[in-house]
Parts: sequence; structure tokens; C-alpha cells
Amino acid sequence: MENFQSLEQALKHYFGYDSFRPGQDKIITETLQNRDLLIIMPTGGGKSLCFQLPALLKPGLTVVVSPLIALMQDQVTALQDNGIGATFLNSTLSSTEERSRQEDILSGKIKLLYVAPERLLSERFAPFLHQVYQEVGISAFAIDEAHCVSEWGHDFRPEYRQLRQLRHRYPQVPTLALTATATKRVRQDISQQLGLKQPGIHVASFNRPNLYYEVMGKEQRSYNRLCQIIRGEKGSGIVYCLSRRKVEETAQLLQRDGIQALPYHAGMKDEDRSRNQTRFIRDDVQVIVATIAFGMGINKLDVRFVIHYDLPRNLESYYQESGRSGRDGEQAKCILFYSLSDLKKIEYIIGQKPDKQEQLIARQQLNKVIEYAEGIECRRTIQLSYFGEKFKGNCGNCDNCLNPKPIEDWTIEAQKFLSCVARSGERFGMKHIIDVLRGSKNAKVQQNGHHLLSTYGIGKDKTAAEWKMLARSLLHQSLLGETTDGYRVLKLNQGSWEILRKQRSVSIAVNRTTLDKLLPDYNPKAAEMSILFDRLIILRKHIADEQSVPPYVIFGDSSLKLMSQLQPQSLEEFGNISGVGKYKLEQYGDRFVSEIRSFCQEQKLPEPLPTSTQMITFQFYNQGLNGEEIAAKRGLKVSTVYEHLSQLISMKQPIDIDRFVLPVRQEIILKAIKTVGAESLKTIWEHLGGDYSYEEIKLVRARMLREN
Ligand code: ADP
Ligand code: ZN
Repeated sequence: MENFQSLEQALKHYFGYDSFRPGQDKIITETLQNRDLLIIMPTGGGKSLCFQLPALLKPGLTVVVSPLIALMQDQVTALQDNGIGATFLNSTLSSTEERSRQEDILSGKIKLLYVAPERLLSERFAPFLHQVYQEVGISAFAIDEAHCVSEWGHDFRPEYRQLRQLRHRYPQVPTLALTATATKRVRQDISQQLGLKQPGIHVASFNRPNLYYEVMGKEQRSYNRLCQIIRGEKGSGIVYCLSRRKVEETAQLLQRDGIQALPYHAGMKDEDRSRNQTRFIRDDVQVIVATIAFGMGINKLDVRFVIHYDLPRNLESYYQESGRSGRDGEQAKCILFYSLSDLKKIEYIIGQKPDKQEQLIARQQLNKVIEYAEGIECRRTIQLSYFGEKFKGNCGNCDNCLNPKPIEDWTIEAQKFLSCVARSGERFGMKHIIDVLRGSKNAKVQQNGHHLLSTYGIGKDKTAAEWKMLARSLLHQSLLGETTDGYRVLKLNQGSWEILRKQRSVSIAVNRTTLDKLLPDYNPKAAEMSILFDRLIILRKHIADEQSVPPYVIFGDSSLKLMSQLQPQSLEEFGNISGVGKYKLEQYGDRFVSEIRSFCQEQKLPEPLPTSTQMITFQFYNQGLNGEEIAAKRGLKVSTVYEHLSQLISMKQPIDIDRFVLPVRQEIILKAIKTVGAESLKTIWEHLGGDYSYEEIKLVRARMLREN
């Protein structure tokens, strides 16, 4: 074992990281003092390192208990990829394989052994464990996903209860219990059930600053928005839906629209499911559309977005599910689509539960989700307060902090709406009331004689969407009721009458979410970096496929991002990148450095010169002719002339495109390109609804790419 000046040095040596995440160094220091510890950290907080680094620094073997075979394999692969002696024993191994691993353990080559609880405690395994204890020593038991020991947690596993035996058999060996579950009840249970001795308790903040939270209203165009969000993201993501059918449907729609997406739900055959999962982890597809079953045992760190296309059942599961994004610490988005009709669906499902108490709990939990979705304060503050954590003020990374929604007084509008409900006899739904208010001439209005009501047409000044927003807000604020048995008929309640009698005013948060918010800002330096980033991603995928491991095992996104920012062109510089440890430097340094070098070389190539036919077009352009005139003069097609012009632009010739495309039109085209990408003219053209010609698009695109 090497000697290190500091824990940081050891961290850099084995894992390539420059500094500890909050809490890690303190935990590691205590681990090295052989204390029992209870470690509570949110997913992605960096729990594993808390036992992995001490395992390397202490004599003997650290035994890691892990409930899922897939998780075990992933972690061991990642460790081995850092050149660390780690292995697992589980039911997938042949007996020869098992024996050879046991020999490695006894020879001291292995520092970390991953094993499932039932094996660890089996009669057959006991003598081997004892031999390890006597011959190489056991430095710690690390119990991962320790909440499985508690019936109060969400994944109770009876075999975890037996782990207490370890305490009796090896009282000297310290135990570390790790979990991402937040509630107090579970914490106490873990400590008690595992027999921890005055454990050091470390509760990291549940705040995940790198996650951006947003709630979107689910209107008719929500599918378009979904596509837009996915297209706007480079990396992979999860789309959660409530039902299997919705999963299938959404995955198919996305595929149809050119997004690589696969379904995942409990109704699929095991082999199909695990194939789709692997393809997602390996970055063969961008998106997995799944029911909430997906993600439990999945160790994919570079998920860039999690979209809840349907409403989650409670806030804890929303936190866990959305928290599957950004585990590498890089920026990621968590978006929740929210609609009243989803709400009704869930309420209906709750109503079907036979047990009244269960219904009550489910309703309370649902209310928390509603408070979160409709809240106008910081989303993070709402979430963290759910876990009993105080978070002050403005996080700056959620929709409510970035675009505070103005609160407006809509009392008059509310009176109009409610009086229309009253006058039509409380027998109709939202859509009909809005039709009457807006003076619709449709048959249902006529048949019911509602064109004769005094409220007919008094709401023409507002759009149907605005009326809907008001009606929803009234419903949510319980200032209006609605029947839930099949037809959704609006009913006045006490609050409604107070408004009608002018005893009460109505404020609503006005949500004028625009699509613009989704458009990333365009930045040329960033564009150059992103070209290199893409190339490094391809290289990483290549190497990962050669070794049959998921790409993030080679390097995380954050390391690739740093590489494309700093563009290290020597092995020495490369070794300084966070995430590049000694072992990875040796394994992959050459290939990555040479990719970066060749990228930098290409950036320096001289610009190509125009050909003679392009030059002739250029001369006519300089005489002030427009595209059609040049085409006529030269006997060429107009499209060819525009092709020349855009090539000339790419070659940095001074062409002023304002002469061909009005600046307002340029802006709109630019926006479209930023949304759907610059690769396909046809896609851009379609996105613009065919209102812009290919020629215009070509010119704008060429200029945009030149300015990179
Ligand atoms: P958890 O088990 O808490 O969900 P992991 O242990 O899987 O989280 O860690 C999440 C990611 O963070 C991993 O990619 C891990 O390598 C990385 N990580 C952990 N500690 C650090 C650190 N000090 N600096 C940079 N990255 C880290
Ligand atoms: Zn916020």
C-alpha cells in the first residue's frame, strides 16, 4: 500500500477526483477510526466512496452487502475500471469461478467484496467468511441500501433483518449503514435492527443543487413540448408514465418522431425488459419510457433529464424518481407535467381502495403533490420541507425562482364564471361554461338556450385557455366544486357563493409560460466545445463497447466536459482532469489525447477557397443583384445560386444575408434551428410549418454555423 500525504491525495490517486463532496471526508475519517456509522445521503451524493476509499486504505477486506445483482455488477465494474481489486459473489457464478474468486480474496488481492445478504449469512458461506477474518482480516461491513432492513421503508427485505448476526459473530468489525431514504422512523429502525453501537450519524442535505425542477401545465400540446424538451437535450433521459399502455404509446410516438426511445414496464417479458434497459445504459438509445418500476437498481449516473409525463403518487417517490437524474453531479432537468385530469384519475384510483385508512393516507400524499405542483414558491423549498429540512428562499434553479409567476386579482372574472355556472343550473362542465362565456355558436349552447343567458358572451375578452386557468385555480383553491362520478359537472360551494356575494376576492398565479424559455441560449464558444464533446462521447462509446461496459464507467460526463473545455493535448495535462486517476490515465489517456489533438489540428486548418463558379455568383452579388436575377443571368436554378451563397458564407466571404432574408424572419429561423438542431434542413423547414423557404433557411443556417 502506498503512503499518502492526505486523504485528497489518495482520492486523486485511486479515483481521479480532486476534492471531496460535502460530508465525505468527515465520514471517511470516522470510518478510518473504525466507528459504526449511519450515512444518509441523497442518491448521487457519493455514498459509495465513503466505504470504498477506506477499504483501500485499511488492511483487510471490506464486505459490501448489496441487494441487487445488477447494482453489484455495475459497482464492481466501475471499481475494476479504476484498477481496484473488487469482486462479487452471487448466484450467477459457476462453482469454478466462485472458487477462483475466493482464492483471490484469501491472497489479499481483493479489497472490496460485494455480496447479497442471503449468501453472506448462509451456512455454506460461514466457514469461508471466518477464514477471511482470520487470514486477511475484515476491515468493515458496509450495508448498502440499509433501509431494506425496515418495514417502514419502501423496499423491505426480510433477509436484511438477519444481518444483525454479523454483529454477534464479529463484534470488533465496524458496520457502516448507507441509505438514501430520508424519514426519521426508518433511520431509527436501521440503527436498531443492525445493532449499531453509538453510530456516528451523518445526514447530508437532501438538496441536489444540480437538478433543475419545473412543473408544466399539460395542455393539448403537451406531446409537442415533450418532444421539444427531449430534442433540446443531448444526453439520455427517462420519461415516466402511469400506465403500461401509456408507456407503449408514448414510446411509439417518440420513435415515429425520430427520437430513439424504448419502453419499459412490468408487463413486458423479462428478456425484452432487460435488453431495453441495457441499451439505455449503454447509450444505444436516448430515452426510456417507463412505469415507475424503472430505475430502482440502475446505476446510470449520466441521466440528463427525468420527465414525469403523468403525475407521481407522492412527493417522496417524486424525489426518488426525479433524483435518478444527474447522479454525476452535472446539470440535469426534472420536469413534471401536471393536469387536472390526471388528478381526477388518481383520485378515482384512490376511491377504489377498499381500506378507508389507506384512502386517507393516499389522499394526504396526493395533496402534497398538488401543493408542490401548484405552489408558486421555490420548488426546492417545498420538497425539502417535506423531508423536514429547512431551505431558505430562492434556489435560483427552479421555474418558480427563475420565472416568478405574477399573482393577479381576477375577482371580476371569477364572478362572471361562477355566475355562468349558477345560471346554467350547475349541470355542465368547464368546457361548456367557457363556450357560453365566450359566446360560442355551437349546437350544445343553442339547444340549451344558453345563448339567451345574461352571461352569454360576457367573457369574449379572455381566451379559452385563460378561462380554463381561472377555473382550475378556483377548483384547486376549493372555491368551486366538481363531481367526480363519471361526468365532471361544476358545482358551486360555499366559497363560490362568497365570491358571488362580493364577500371574497380571488387571486390567481398567472402562468404565462412561453416556449421561449426552453430555448437554450446560443453561444459560439460553447458550440465549439460541444463539437469536441460529441466526438469524445463517440470515442467513449467505442471503448465502452469494446469492453462491454456502460460508457460512464470509462469517464463521466463531467470529465468529458472538462476535456472539451480545457482541451488537454498532453498526457500530463490530461491527468489533471477531474475523474482521470492514475489507472485511467494509463488505460485511456493516449486515445483521448490523440482525439483532442486531432480536433485542435482541424480547428486550425486554413479555410477552403471558393471555386470559380461560386466566384462568378459572388461577383454578381457584389453588383447588387438578388438571387433570382443572378440565376437568370447565369442560366442556373435559383436554388443553385442560393447554394453558392451559403457556401460562400461558410467560407467567410462577406455576404450580407439581410439582403435576402428579412431580419425578423432570420430570428424566427434561428430559433427554430436552436430548437431542432442544424443537421436537417427538412426538419427545420417542417418545424417552421413550411412558411419559410429552403433558401432562406440555408442562408441563415450557414451564417449561424460560420459564427461558431
Ligand atoms: P450514491 O451511491 O450516493 O447514489 P455514488 O456513490 O454512485 O452515489 O456516486 C455518484 C457519482 O459521484 C459517482 O459517479 C461517483 O464516482 C461520483 N463521486 C463521488 N464522490 C465524488 C467526488 N468527491 N468528486 C467527484 N465525483 C464524485
Ligand atoms: Zn427555487
